[in-house]
Amino acid sequence: MKTPKNTEKMQSVVVNFSIVRIRRDVMTILTHHAASRQAEADNIAAELAAIARSGMVLPGSITQRRTRCGHRNCGCHADPPRLHGPYWQWTRKVAAKTICRWLSTDQHHDYQAWIDNDRRLHELLARLEALGAEALEADPRWER
Ligand SMILES: [Zn+2]
Repeated sequence: MKTPKNTEKMQSVVVNFSIVRIRRDVMTILTHHAASRQAEADNIAAELAAIARSGMVLPGSITQRRTRCGHRNCGCHADPPRLHGPYWQWTRKVAAKTICRWLSTDQHHDYQAWIDNDRRLHELLARLEALGAEALEADPRWER
């Protein structure tokens, strides 16, 4: 026959036991997340290294331009206009200034991949930063 006091004690043990179980489950989830975060970081590192090793990285963008010349009776001033080009222009920022350079069609074909690599580098770095932010958010010390 249990006294009320004993019943309280039993309930307390049950509650403590479930807190321990929840803590253990949380730690399992955190460990699992840390492992999958590490796996993703490894993949990112491999891709970053591959791009870096290629040495084919170029900032900015390449855009197609069609232009008008200075000759009044040229077709580029007609209605509708027959513009010159297409030409390719590499544009990037240097010290907050936009710098442009004309490229040949060949150069455009070669260097577009370099621009794409640069964009991918930035995506990968942003993903690494997001993983870091997730790790910080998952820090169990927030509950203290
Ligand atoms: Zn013209």
